[in-house]
Amino acid sequence: MSDIPLPLFSELNLSPALLKVIKEIGYETPSPIQAATIPLLLDNRDVLGQAQTGTGKTAAFALPILSRIDIKQHTPQALVLAPTRELAIQVAEAFQTYAAHIKDFHVLPIYGGQSYGPQLSALRRGVHVVVGTPGRVIDHLDKGSLDLSKLKTLVLDEADEMLRMGFIDDVEQILQKTPATRQTALFSATMPSAIKRIAKTYLREPAEVTVAAKTGTADNIRQRYWMVSGMQKLDALTRILEAEPFDGMIIFARTKLGTEELAGKLNARGFAATAINGDMQQAQRERTIQQL
Ligand code: AMP
Repeated sequence: MSDIPLPLFSELNLSPALLKVIKEIGYETPSPIQAATIPLLLDNRDVLGQAQTGTGKTAAFALPILSRIDIKQHTPQALVLAPTRELAIQVAEAFQTYAAHIKDFHVLPIYGGQSYGPQLSALRRGVHVVVGTPGRVIDHLDKGSLDLSKLKTLVLDEADEMLRMGFIDDVEQILQKTPATRQTALFSATMPSAIKRIAKTYLREPAEVTVAAKTGTADNIRQRYWMVSGMQKLDALTRILEAEPFDGMIIFARTKLGTEELAGKLNARGFAATAINGDMQQAQRERTIQQL
């Protein structure tokens, strides 16, 4: 996908309210998953997306949903199922951000562990988008407090995580309780057979979109690891420095203090080492590197 030139947001047929907010937030170009998914969802297609967090998948489904929202309809038009309360809140916040110029838009996160009161009154007042964990969504369906009869779009976010956490029966129950005419988008980092079965059973001729993880290892990098306990770390590192031929080396440490302690100890062992960390000014960092 990387060799296909990415379109501009303005070429994706999103509503003016969304183009405005995208500009304000500072997104310059759509990410690959957004470029592929936004036109499909706007076109009412089902989507099976293989993508991880960090690829921009939230906006890939939130922007087209918002672009087609009917602000006058107060029963939920879109439901996003997420594996955890944290993700549900994060996705609801993303909807809120992207809807900054859509007047009277309401999104509601619903998840277990929170009292029903605020969720019930928000649902009664009317919401356009619900983002929920499967268990709590089922609870609301059983109580009759969540009306999915007018649902237009259902998103399963991180479907493999929902499977891993034992939610798959709940997800399937919810799928069965939504209108057959709904549009469905399923996103998953991996595609185990149970997820493929769900996709095959509940998605209508889905367009398949696969996006490589944003943070991969470059082909010319080999990764190795050596398990040592804390006490032996310095000796292990010294062995590596003595055994591996190198011109220069970058060593990452967890804390700022850690960088300084390690540089001091390496100097004491005869290696020219220096610490770089966020407490130093950029110019100072550059000077430090040049001095090595
Ligand atoms: P996600 O994969 O949905 O968790 O998004 C990862 C991060 O990328 C979030 O912080 C988004 O705000 C950001 N993001 C999403 N789309 C874009 C874009 N087109 N340009 C720049 N940043 C983006």
